[in-house]
Amino acid sequence: MTQSNTIVVGLTGGIGSGKSTISKMIMEQDISIIDADKISREVLNIYPEILLKIKNEFGEEYFYEDGSLNRKKLGQYVFSSEILKKTLENIIIPYIKREIFDKIKKCRENMEEIAIVDAPTLIENNLQIYMDYVILVMVDEKTQILRVIKRDLQSKEEVLKRIRNQLSLEEKIQYADYVIDNSKDLDFTKSQLAHILNDILLRGKNEKI
Ligand code: ADP
Repeated sequence: MTQSNTIVVGLTGGIGSGKSTISKMIMEQDISIIDADKISREVLNIYPEILLKIKNEFGEEYFYEDGSLNRKKLGQYVFSSEILKKTLENIIIPYIKREIFDKIKKCRENMEEIAIVDAPTLIENNLQIYMDYVILVMVDEKTQILRVIKRDLQSKEEVLKRIRNQLSLEEKIQYADYVIDNSKDLDFTKSQLAHILNDILLRGKNEKI
């Protein structure tokens, strides 16, 4: 089958940075979004062996009676420990990657010019190596905290815990080709996004491996 040389762009950012908001803006332009969060839920249905591996590793108590995974309970359990988190990730991430690559392949088969991989933990999972470009969405921490408190109705302490659990902005920025400052109004964000997408289309593919 003929395939195009789709430009693959990673979109990432910390919790509450505005990544989903920007993802929606991109979708409105008829550009394909490959949503890693959505895929992380879908793989549980596509590959039943994941559930089996989780059951063997963590036990029956993380499952509902109907056999579906109690994501919240398991999430709370592994959140406390780096080792447990890694164990769960080692089970599930290969499947997520497989699905992401599969969706990129479909974009190529559909001769799409550009595809966006929307992944909050793109860099944590070393997916940036497969991207032609990486866009990092950022806001100052004060705005980030206020927006998440408002969106998720959580306390400042809970929000801080979630922020501290992610790679810091300073670490992520090293891998970014473009940065969107989403601390101001949405028009400002939209105009930065338009410039970046134009620039990417002008530059074309930028394979790093
Ligand atoms: P993320 O997907 O990175 O966690 P969201 O896109 O959900 O972040 O944005 C976090 C919250 O901030 C949402 O409630 C969203 O509506 C709001 N928000 C995003 N960008 C802006 C902005 N530029 N100005 C004001 N509010 C914003």
